[in-house]
Amino acid sequence: MWGKTVKAVILAMTIGESMSIANDTPDYALVIHGGAGTITPDKLTPELEATIRKDLLAALAAGQRILAQNGSALDAITETIQVLENSPHFNAGRGAVFTAEGTNELDSSIMDGRNLDAGAISGVRNIKNPITLARAVMEKSPHVMMQGHGAEAFAKEQGIETANDAYFHTDHRWQQYEDAKARKAGPLLDHDGKGTSQEGPSINKATNGDYKFGTVGAVALDRAGNLAAGTSTGGMTLKMHGRVGDSPIIGAGTYANNQSCAVSATGHGEFFIRATVARNICALMEYAGLGLQEAADQIVLQQLVEMKGEGGIIAIDKEGNISMTFNTPGMFRGSLTNHKEASVAIYKD
Ligand code: ASP
Repeated sequence: MWGKTVKAVILAMTIGESMSIANDTPDYALVIHGGAGTITPDKLTPELEATIRKDLLAALAAGQRILAQNGSALDAITETIQVLENSPHFNAGRGAVFTAEGTNELDSSIMDGRNLDAGAISGVRNIKNPITLARAVMEKSPHVMMQGHGAEAFAKEQGIETANDAYFHTDHRWQQYEDAKARKAGPLLDHDGKGTSQEGPSINKATNGDYKFGTVGAVALDRAGNLAAGTSTGGMTLKMHGRVGDSPIIGAGTYANNQSCAVSATGHGEFFIRATVARNICALMEYAGLGLQEAADQIVLQQLVEMKGEGGIIAIDKEGNISMTFNTPGMFRGSLTNHKEASVAIYKD
């Protein structure tokens, strides 16, 4: 009799535990960013803030439609990133910043956590949605990374949509470029208002204060338990022709491995490349057994801070744990799971 009770209690505990695990672990999850930097309430008008929040929610909704219908993490992030690239408010696709030569040079990368397949492109022009080209490199070429004219020729061959220069010419970006040139600033990080001129960092004195919209990225976990990550950017205002940041570099701006996590970064690319940010977060989970948040904290809040590398990351692990970690005053970000409706945030909470 007593034995039966013990068995029943054990059974109840087991069921209770597994039920709570089932409740805590989402079937699918999606996290996005739209750049990190000196983003404080005084820098955004209420109208602009509302528009940005709306764009972030639209991007999350696009990805959720795919994930909810048992679609893949890879499809979800591709779709999500395209919505952000089509918005003029982020430094990717349509809203890309201008190089020193007054052109838009786009970088992007994507990675599939199932098999470590990856694709990346850098320094391409006139590609409407760079993330689709990065994906084509992954799926339709024998290579991982293509750049410049070669990547553009491959895009043509693959029927990837192009857009003329006028499509990428947004007034606020041009103003930003003109201001930076007038101040003889060095390359400007889109999202923090500082430039690195020969004399060292210079403070952004642009009247429109518009150096805060950044790179975009997405990471997702799908119902099949697969992870994927992607990132897309115009880089830095006044960047030298040919400069490549972290965003298209697998391991720096983007990484995904089903064994650990999926990461997309935004920040000062030169530091993120040197710190191999995205891969290091996954590696800390794989080799050192750290949890996702611990790993993100170690890289973003310790290592990068020591190096003076500004920015942040979004990440998700195979249990659906989410991290949105940044060492700047703000990061445009948002997330959802099948248990939790979409929410977006901008400033430090
Ligand atoms: N990481 C990007 C770059 O350095 C910039 C950004 O995140 O906004 O090109």
